[in-house]
Amino acid sequence: MEMWLKEAQISNAAMTYKVKETLVKRKTEFQDLAILDTHAFGRMLVLDGIVQTTIKDEFVYHEMISHIPLFTHPNPKKVLVVGGGDGGAIREILKHPSVEKAVLCEIDRAVIEECKKFLPEISCALDDPRCEVFVGDGIQYVHQHKNEFDVIIVDSTDPFGAAEGLFGGSFYKEIAECLTEDGIFVAQTETPFYLPDVVKRVYNDAKAVFPITKLFMAAIPTYPGGYWSFTIGSKKYDPENADLNAPLDFNTKYYTKKLHTACFALPKYVEDLIK
Ligand code: SAM
Repeated sequence: MEMWLKEAQISNAAMTYKVKETLVKRKTEFQDLAILDTHAFGRMLVLDGIVQTTIKDEFVYHEMISHIPLFTHPNPKKVLVVGGGDGGAIREILKHPSVEKAVLCEIDRAVIEECKKFLPEISCALDDPRCEVFVGDGIQYVHQHKNEFDVIIVDSTDPFGAAEGLFGGSFYKEIAECLTEDGIFVAQTETPFYLPDVVKRVYNDAKAVFPITKLFMAAIPTYPGGYWSFTIGSKKYDPENADLNAPLDFNTKYYTKKLHTACFALPKYVEDLIK
């Protein structure tokens, strides 16, 4: 019998994936979690029926959410990831030799456990001595830590349930206080094609808090619309004027120094959204 995962992108459009095998399927304290092996994308993490990351295309998201802020900051030493329990962002962050400590604050312990078991290619750096894993709500964590991180990455699920409070002005104010005086924040901010209002609202909320706010994009085949937005808020350094002269001395599959600036060139319909 053929098995297919159908993920609704909006109420009347969906993506489907032919499934080879269900590796795990469980209800956690926060969400329905599944790890499936699929024909087209390999193993994938699915939360509440929504694809979070896959072996085949995870590199795009994890490289872009990590290297754009980390190459913008001249000397990032302490980095916080809110969400991101699969560990992909931590793996990329720890490629930067200046990073002394990377804290992962993930609300759902089960995501970390299952990704360690079934997605080792993505979670492989979670046991690195420079990584500290904290299981708890990112909203509380950020509230309790002031002036501490050079870079904060919000690698969250969509703006519903536990992640709802991770999108919006009051959280961005707390993020700004949690950052050092020249700190940088970045968040995954959804699809401008299907959710233009969310992208616009989140961008404007960040803009009200950070002196430099920009949107950049990346092509991620398994995310709704295929073309995904990230919002970056910076206190001092402009990501489009980052000093990128040093050679890239680790492996990437998507990020390049050329793309670092090119990803801020937006299609007209996205530019219009955030005018
Ligand atoms: N790359 C993904 C995407 O855009 O689809 C995000 C993947 S990552 C696994 C998202 C994680 O955010 C989930 O594991 C979820 O449990 C976590 N999360 C949601 N709300 C959170 C909160 N308030 N604090 C910390 N982690 C949270």
